[in-house]
Amino acid sequence: MKEGEDRREGFSDAFTLLRDVAGEQIVFPSPEAAAEDVKRVARSFGADLAGITYNDLRWRYTHKFSDISGTERPNDIPDELPYVIVTAQAMDHDLIRTVPSALSGAATGLGYSHDALVVLATAQYIRNLGYNAIASMNDSALAIPLAIKAGLGEYGRHGLLITKEFGPRVRLGKVFTDLPLALDQPIDFGVKAFCDICRRCSQACPVKAIPHGDPSTEIHNQSNLKGVKKWSVDGEKCFSFWVGQNSDCSICIRVCPYNKDHTKWWVRVGRRLAGTPLRRLMLWLDVKLGFGQRMPPKQWWRGRDRKGVSNG
Ligand code: SF4
Ligand code: SF4
Repeated sequence: MKEGEDRREGFSDAFTLLRDVAGEQIVFPSPEAAAEDVKRVARSFGADLAGITYNDLRWRYTHKFSDISGTERPNDIPDELPYVIVTAQAMDHDLIRTVPSALSGAATGLGYSHDALVVLATAQYIRNLGYNAIASMNDSALAIPLAIKAGLGEYGRHGLLITKEFGPRVRLGKVFTDLPLALDQPIDFGVKAFCDICRRCSQACPVKAIPHGDPSTEIHNQSNLKGVKKWSVDGEKCFSFWVGQNSDCSICIRVCPYNKDHTKWWVRVGRRLAGTPLRRLMLWLDVKLGFGQRMPPKQWWRGRDRKGVSNG
């Protein structure tokens, strides 16, 4: 605490976001040990997933938007923070089953709220170790490419990250740091090959913002990245739909066959088979068994699951 700040320790003090970097640095035996430590701490703060990659400036925003002036302002994440810890928070499965609905916005809001706690606490933990760390949510850089490089999941046709554990039902956070950390590697559990044969998201999108075809460098408008071969979603069409209905949408998350409760063994078996030549069968079963159908919000309030059985 700085002299003259009139601060108190602990619960009696006013909230502040981040305290200064500690003067003394804790030295880890290796970047692997530091990475293990930081990921364990992030999980203990509530991160559902955590991975590490380097701060690839290609994905960093050059500027931010100022609500006050209505113009751009600099992105103040320093270049000399070479590592990024990417975290993911799962959104509530049952709430997402009610999309599109005002109710489902609670899943998004809670995901971001948990994310804020995780990234702020993790950044402060690293600062207490004597290294710089800056917590960030959606304001600094594209999260999905960083999450893919950090091994959290793969890229889906709907333009979202698909994780093994929660499918696309996640919100992402980032901590930029100069603490030397071992990097994670991208993973492959068959998503690209599955998306090649699946069109559930592009068929369900009410404004046809998701492409039906192969990945390409084609862009829709200024909101797309140029020069990257991928499935590009028309974000402006998508957002216009949100504005029109006064709520967010997420139908593409609800209908995605990877959006399931992966704590169940049979879901994990299905995911494994979806990464094999049996993927067409798994897609057929997904539709046949009625996964991805909307749960009316009233049903959620009554605490009943998809087949009308009480959840207690
Ligand atoms: S959020 Fe809704 S409108 Fe936007 S891409 Fe997904 S399904 Fe389409
Ligand atoms: S709905 Fe199907 S095509 Fe769309 S992202 Fe999910 S798996 Fe891929």
